[in-house]
Order: sequence, then structure tokens, then C-alpha cells
Amino acid sequence: MKRLVLVGGGHAHLSVLSALAREKPTDMEVVLVTPSSHQIYSGMLPGWIAGHYTREQCQIDLRPLVQAANVRMVLNHIVGMDADRCCVALSDGRHIEYDTLSLDVGSEIDISWLEMTGEKLLPAKPLDHFFNAWPKILAAAKSHYGYRLAVVGGGAAGVEIALAVRYAFTQAGVAGHVDLVTSASGLLPGHDSGVKHRVAGALAKALIAVHGLRGTGVPEGVMLSDASLIPADCVIAATGARAPRWLMLSHLMLDEYGYIAVDKRHLSHSHPNVFAAGDVCSRQDIAMARSGVHAVHVGPMLASNLLAVEAGEPLKTYQPRRRSLYLLACGPKYAIASWGGFSAGGRWVWHWKNWIDRRFVDRFSNPQRL
Ligand SMILES: Cc1cc2nc3c(=O)[nH]c(=O)nc-3n(C[C@H](O)[C@H](O)[C@H](O)COP(=O)(O)OP(=O)(O)OC[C@H]3O[C@@H](n4cnc5c(N)ncnc54)[C@H](O)[C@@H]3O)c2cc1C
Repeated sequence: MKRLVLVGGGHAHLSVLSALAREKPTDMEVVLVTPSSHQIYSGMLPGWIAGHYTREQCQIDLRPLVQAANVRMVLNHIVGMDADRCCVALSDGRHIEYDTLSLDVGSEIDISWLEMTGEKLLPAKPLDHFFNAWPKILAAAKSHYGYRLAVVGGGAAGVEIALAVRYAFTQAGVAGHVDLVTSASGLLPGHDSGVKHRVAGALAKALIAVHGLRGTGVPEGVMLSDASLIPADCVIAATGARAPRWLMLSHLMLDEYGYIAVDKRHLSHSHPNVFAAGDVCSRQDIAMARSGVHAVHVGPMLASNLLAVEAGEPLKTYQPRRRSLYLLACGPKYAIASWGGFSAGGRWVWHWKNWIDRRFVDRFSNPQRL
């Protein structure tokens, strides 16, 4: 029997598991390698920091889905792979061979510029680690008058986290200070000026100081490129994405930044039995942003292709939409929508985002409703 190995329980693989639960193919063995039986939904992390959600509401229990899909779940993470020999290596030294492999392992946060911050540094990913660490930071902030927290990263994640932290501080009565370091590319690169304007307004209203300079970690906090120091008791890194390092020795063709080079079918450029989706891949035919939106949208196509391979049928292609909808949580139950040149803000946007996010988690948590 042919073996399909899925690595990572990311957004795209949720669709694959759903398709397997619906189709129930009997002619292949499917293995899912995931470090945790729960997949945290990153879109709800800012709402969790702000206190709008419990941790349980932000995560998908993969076990019912895996069971419905008749998939063997291996709770581990891969530390390497040899695409020429068709096998992945687990952290405990075991190897799993595959006929077809699909990788949806996301990206890592690039903390190389901030490492000197030492124990004060908290990367936004891995999400499990962040979820465990944040309550301790909030507790420390409550007991430390004048607590200072700096968020580094001017993209959607950095902005949302800074606003959520400020709101959490206010709700908890913390007399603290929040800084946002965006680098010279400023707030929300790639978004329309109307969105940037709205977000800048939300940050100003929340009394978050925004620094448009490159930040480097130092033991005292963050040193900006003009040599000024932002003292910080905690530095949250929401900086740019970085490809997982173990890919370098995988024998897969990678792009110049180390991401897996794929075509429009999300098939590896070098190995015709390896698929990749989400942040870990790099489309060679078009520029595609690394975002949850694409990781979600590519899922049904990936599912269809993985089943088609086994059936010897032609593969489909994924054409990203020209514009993607981003709904940015702003701390309180207020959010800003960004869609191409259109922007809007309000409580209704937050309720819209809440509805989409809750529905996403609910859909994959309850395979009987698929
Ligand atoms: C705070 C925050 C807010 C964000 N908000 C938005 C937003 O509003 N809109 C948007 O479009 N994007 C947003 N993003 C970006 C979005 O989260 C990512 O683009 C998206 O998660 C990528 O999905 P993925 O499926 O590639 O990977 P992930 O969702 O990261 O899933 C990867 C999975 O693989 C597992 N894994 C990792 N390494 C291994 C390994 N070696 N072996 C086995 N399993 C492994 C991980 O545990 C994880 O479960 C946000 C990110 C953050 C951090």
C-alpha cells in the first residue's frame, strides 16, 4: 500500500484531513507528523492576548479529524529529510519513508537581530510557546510598575500583538508602556495607504510609540539604528519569516531564501512526489505573500492533488486571488479591514472577523459537520 506522509497540521493540511475524512480512501496509508495534537489558529492569538478568547477557543483538536480521516498521527516533529531517499527524520531518531510527501510546516520567526536580548525575548512563534509564556509576562507586568514591552515587527502580526498587549495591560490595570519597532519599511508594508492611516490612528489612540527604524536586540531592550535605546522588560519578536533550517540538507530545490520551490500545483520543482503549501513554500511562477489567507485557500487544491496522485489523475493548479482580505484586530472589539485599495474600521469588522475565525476553528474541530 502506498504511504502519504503529511508533515505539520497547518492551515492547508486541515483541508487535506477534511478531504480524507470525506473521501475515506482505502488504498493508501496516511501518516500525519505533528508536534502537537492541537493546532493553534494564529488569527485568534491577538484576541486571546486581549482576553476575548480562551486558549481552547483558539485551537483545533486534531484528534477527531485525524480519527475520522483514518490517519495515523505521530506526535513528533521532523528534524530533517532526504528527498532523494524519500524519508523524513523524526527528533527521536526514527525515520518514516513515504511514497508521497506533503509539507505544511509554516515558517519560523527570524530572531537573529534580537538574540542579544536574551531571556527577555519572546518570539511570536512557535505559538504553543507563546501561549505558555504570555500569562507569565502579564503577571510580571502587573507586579512591576512602569513595565516596558517592545514589539518588533511592523507587519500584521506585530501591529495586532502590540494593540492586543496594550489592551491587555489596560484591562489588567498595568501601568506599562508599549513600543512598536517597525524598521524603515514602516507599518504594514504592502497594504494600502488608507489601511496604514487607520492603523497609525489606532496605535496613536492606544498610546503606542511607533519607531520606524531597524532594531537590534541588546540586553537592556532594543537599540535602534540611530543609536537610541528602547528599554524593555520584554521584547516580542514578530519580525519577518524565515524558512526552517533543516530544509537546507533536504535535497529539495529551494529558493534563494531557503523556502521550497514549488510550481502552480504546489509540487516541488525538484521532486515530483513532494508537495508543499503555506509559508514554507515559494511559488516560482508568481509572487505570493506568506499569509494565512493563502495557506487556507490553497488547502482544497492540495487535498485534491494528493488524492489525484494516488488515483493517477491530473493535478489542479492554485491561482491566488488578486486581492486578499485581511482583518486586523486592534485590541478592544474593534478591527480594521484591508482589501486591496479598500479599508474600513469598526466594531462590526471585529464581529465579522470573530465570526470567520470562530467558524474556521469550529469547522475543523467537528469533523461530523464537514
Ligand atoms: C500573531 C499572528 C497573527 C497573524 N495574523 C494573520 C492574519 O490576520 N492574516 C493572515 O493571512 N496571516 C496572519 N498571520 C500569518 C499566518 O499565521 C501564517 O501565514 C500562517 O499560519 C501560515 O500557515 P501554515 O499552514 O503555512 O503554517 P502554520 O499555521 O504555522 O502551521 C504549521 C504547523 O506545522 C507544525 N510544524 C512546524 N515545524 C514542524 C516540523 N518540523 N515537524 C512537524 N510539524 C511541524 C507547527 O507546529 C504547526 O502546527 C499571523 C501570524 C501571527 C504570528
